[in-house]
Amino acid sequence: MIKYDVIVIGGGPAGLMAAGQAAGRGMKVTLLEKKYLPARKLGITGKGRCNLTNIAQINDFLSSFGKGAKFMRFALGRFANHDLISFFNELGVKTVVERGGRVFPFAQDAQVVVRTLINWAKNQGVEIRANTRVTRIITENGRVSGAIIKDSRKRPDGSETAQEKLLSAHSIVIATGGSSYPATGSTGDGYALAEEMGHGIVSVHPALVPLETRGSTAQKMQGLSLRNVQAEIFVHEKKQARGFGEMLFTHFGVSGPIILTMSKTAVQALNQNQKVTLTIDLKPGVTHTQLKSRIARVMHEQGKKKLINILKDFLPLKMIPVFVEQSGIDQEKQGNLVTAGEQKKLRMWCKELQLEISGYRSFNEAIITSGGVKLPEVNPKTMESRKVQGLYFAGEVLDIDADTGGFNLQAAFSTGWVAGISAGL
Ligand SMILES: Cc1cc2nc3c(=O)[nH]c(=O)nc-3n(C[C@H](O)[C@H](O)[C@H](O)COP(=O)(O)OP(=O)(O)OC[C@H]3O[C@@H](n4cnc5c(N)ncnc54)[C@H](O)[C@@H]3O)c2cc1C
Repeated sequence: MIKYDVIVIGGGPAGLMAAGQAAGRGMKVTLLEKKYLPARKLGITGKGRCNLTNIAQINDFLSSFGKGAKFMRFALGRFANHDLISFFNELGVKTVVERGGRVFPFAQDAQVVVRTLINWAKNQGVEIRANTRVTRIITENGRVSGAIIKDSRKRPDGSETAQEKLLSAHSIVIATGGSSYPATGSTGDGYALAEEMGHGIVSVHPALVPLETRGSTAQKMQGLSLRNVQAEIFVHEKKQARGFGEMLFTHFGVSGPIILTMSKTAVQALNQNQKVTLTIDLKPGVTHTQLKSRIARVMHEQGKKKLINILKDFLPLKMIPVFVEQSGIDQEKQGNLVTAGEQKKLRMWCKELQLEISGYRSFNEAIITSGGVKLPEVNPKTMESRKVQGLYFAGEVLDIDADTGGFNLQAAFSTGWVAGISAGL
């Protein structure tokens, strides 16, 4: 039986950081990754550009974690956003800061981050075993003692063999990620491993996820992307979330940055069978009164033109046929014949376009997973389990999720850093 000091399960950003930190402290470390390569998800982050972190000040940073802020304060205090930026800069990855404080590699290529992190971990002395899935953790007298792995190997004829083996270690870090984008390897294994160790799991749901809408209004505008709009989520007519920026219509409903950010509120409400409505303000820069006079003025000034041509002044082209169909107004009508009631319909469409949210997309399309290993059962100063000695957690497997903007990767790196150092003591 091979003996290690530390076994890290999962080769995402949290696992690679934990393994490298433990190995850097002289520990014999193996990192077990079930896919044929580690960090598959990291390689597709930020639309392939990898939004590493955010330069927000600590309090703003923490507020992006919602109820997980208290837990994250310790890990961020020990390995903060500026530490992560220095970490990569020292390894030769230059970074740039973009809109909203988002930090990206200067090369605008997530693969640069992946390669650098894997090489760093190897140079620290980590043994990386790919195609290796952990199926069980073994304990003795309330302390971890090893892990059972399934080692998959391809034969020259293309068929696969799988062997079970026991590896021993006195510390184990679970860094298996969540359940989103399962094709990258994050299939929720860590929740089962943690449950077997006696940990509670806050039920998991897709988060930062596109939303489905009732009816065909959104579908008819699929492909249309809106900028500088304001959108609000109402739960049973009560405003619960607001976003300003970009969104888009798809074949199933709505997506884009502001929708993803507000999706958590919608998902929670839908899971409680509450009525969720999305209201879009296409012209947040003008009030209802200002828009009312503007519509009246344009209808008068362009009174001889057909309505279908005047509408281009108010709506994106892809939206016009949908507005015409739903408002029931004759598009051939001259501008000066459009009634006050019809003008109001146009104003309401511009300022308060309403879509009922009927559902959300699956884990296959969710950027992160909400829920996970219960935070009160983990020591935030060390990431060690309060139930089993020598067991640590890092990254998305924990009940932590944040807004978009680089906060989730920072959480993985910070908790990985703390877990690795604690496991390596
Ligand atoms: C499309 C997309 C874009 C994103 N963009 C950003 C972004 O720009 N900025 C940002 O901050 N966040 C982004 N995120 C979120 C971010 O990628 C995750 O929060 C982060 O990767 C979590 O890191 P992790 O190490 O905890 O888990 P993961 O990255 O999920 O890694 C877990 C690893 O564990 C392995 N594993 C699982 N089970 C086992 C097992 N039983 N045995 C062995 N190995 C196992 C998996 O194969 C996987 O490699 C994005 C997510 C997605 C899906």
